Amino acid sequence: MKAYYAEQEPGWCAWCGEALPEIRHWRTTFCDKTCSNAYFNSLTADARADVRATLACRGCGKTIRDAKRQDRQFCDAACRRRTAQQSAFTCDRAA
Ligand SMILES: [Zn+2]
Ligand SMILES: [Zn+2]
Repeated sequence: MKAYYAEQEPGWCAWCGEALPEIRHWRTTFCDKTCSNAYFNSLTADARADVRATLACRGCGKTIRDAKRQDRQFCDAACRRRTAQQSAFTCDRAA
């Protein structure tokens, strides 16, 4: 978890051009939700579909099709359940 947050090179919001905080999530490209929403709203439907098409399932790594939400992490409920079971198993063994 921690590794996703680290000091970054100076960066600027892709929408309004404000400087981004030095400590931020590695994927952060906007200063806040307002800017990211404005950016995505400015895209055409096709472009938004492309962005969604780049989502990959955290379980099997397959591209998530028809993702309705940007933060979707698994291709389907079965995959999410399987991944949760696997990580629970790994934690049990490590303990
Ligand atoms: Zn901004
Ligand atoms: Zn999957």
